[in-house]
Amino acid sequence: MIRKVRPHITQNEDLIFERSSPGKIGYQLPALDVPAVDPKAALGSDNVRDEIADFPEVSEVEVIRHFTRLSTWNYAIDLGMYPLGSCTMKYNPRVNELVARLDGMAWAHPYQPEELSQGSMEVVAQLEQALLEITGLDAVTLQPAAGAHGELTGILLVRALLESRGNPRKRILVPDSAHGTNPATAMMAGYTVGNIKSNAKGLMDVEQLARIVDEDVAAVMVTNPSTLGVFEENIVQCAEILHAKGAMLYMDGANMNALVGLARPGDFGVDVMHINLHKTFSTPHGGGGPGGGPVAVTKALEPFLPTPRLAKKGADWTWNYDLPQSIGRVRAFYGNFGVLVRALAYIMAHGGPGLRNATIDALLNANYIRYKLAPYFDLPYDSPNMHEVVFSDQRQAKKGVRTGDMAKRLIDYGFHPYTVSFPTIVHGALMIEPTETESKMELDLFIDAMISIAKEVDDEPELLKNAPHLTRTKRVDETGAARRPVLRWNPK
Ligand SMILES: *Cc1c(COP(=O)(O)O)cnc(C)c1O
Repeated sequence: MIRKVRPHITQNEDLIFERSSPGKIGYQLPALDVPAVDPKAALGSDNVRDEIADFPEVSEVEVIRHFTRLSTWNYAIDLGMYPLGSCTMKYNPRVNELVARLDGMAWAHPYQPEELSQGSMEVVAQLEQALLEITGLDAVTLQPAAGAHGELTGILLVRALLESRGNPRKRILVPDSAHGTNPATAMMAGYTVGNIKSNAKGLMDVEQLARIVDEDVAAVMVTNPSTLGVFEENIVQCAEILHAKGAMLYMDGANMNALVGLARPGDFGVDVMHINLHKTFSTPHGGGGPGGGPVAVTKALEPFLPTPRLAKKGADWTWNYDLPQSIGRVRAFYGNFGVLVRALAYIMAHGGPGLRNATIDALLNANYIRYKLAPYFDLPYDSPNMHEVVFSDQRQAKKGVRTGDMAKRLIDYGFHPYTVSFPTIVHGALMIEPTETESKMELDLFIDAMISIAKEVDDEPELLKNAPHLTRTKRVDETGAARRPVLRWNPK
């Protein structure tokens, strides 16, 4: 029998509402030395509340301790490996943070006059230049705030170009291995979505593509390497098929971590692509925070890029708003500037050869994991893989253990889970992307954990079915949380 105690630091932190007691506040202000004003008179009674129902009343130190304790519950890349596939959860070098926090960068204001913004504009110009070199394309916008936002921008550019040629067309084709944002983007841009099947190697079926591309198809959206971590080896042929019919090749560049310094999409026929700065170029991500989804395009699409665009006026930079064919703004001001600064810092700190080495290390790490785990887990597509590897739970499923069960068990071993059940064309997928920033020592720990889990499935499958066991909270009802979310705290 364990004696019930109330520990000083509880591992199951109360809700902040449970710490509340009436009248507690987190500030002390001196007495007013100006005449008091009735806030309702000053702001209008519609804008002033008498009270906020159930608002917690706590002191400053209670707020600090509450959130600090909660923060220790979090898994983070600074704590250990984060093998989520498709997410490129690499370590974010501190030098990027240092540069982004420099006063001139952090305090730059978008309404500052151009004469006083030349340094920030130079950052934008240099990042544009670097991304053009990396992608092999002709022009780039840094405005979009994330990958999906870049996709929408890119497809609106395609639409604008086709419209200027007389017909925006009707359909966008998306391989069945695509990220869900691709078909969603096509729909938002006013297209219907057609499906391209993957062949036995996990590649786009080129013969099917050749059959279905007609004058109604505006573009194909392809992720390369695909969400299976496989390079589309027929990409040049795909581009030729599309171009012959006046259609465009859109590349989802979320997996650029597998290509930077090795291959340039502009060289293999891509017309338009987005890059996830918060994946490939190291900005911290995962909490829905600011990101960057630059869109790079060929010359033909350049006139349609969002306004304003950077231009030279004598020796100075200026913003050019006079772009009659532009699709307009896609975001306030010039994009998430802090993310742009981090990306440029990352690129410059690595240099060309360093970026290439990072890519090679990312591929090496993923292939090392594949080689070590292949005896234990089913590999549904046996094509050479790039920066990530996708197994299936086919063998473990025979014991009733699914990918989600093993992912939960991985938490007991101190790792963040891999990506579960994606891509959807792999039944019971385990998608693993180590990135270049993990050492061999960390990879070996991860591999040992996975092998140990595979053995547990053979010996003690029941153990897996209600994992995790060593966490504060046991397995939660994820379906219930999604279907019937309780978003309000209710004391009654
Ligand atoms: C992450 C990702 C996206 C979406 O990017 P966001 O920045 O999350 O909007 C699109 N496609 C693929 C393949 C991705 O991995």
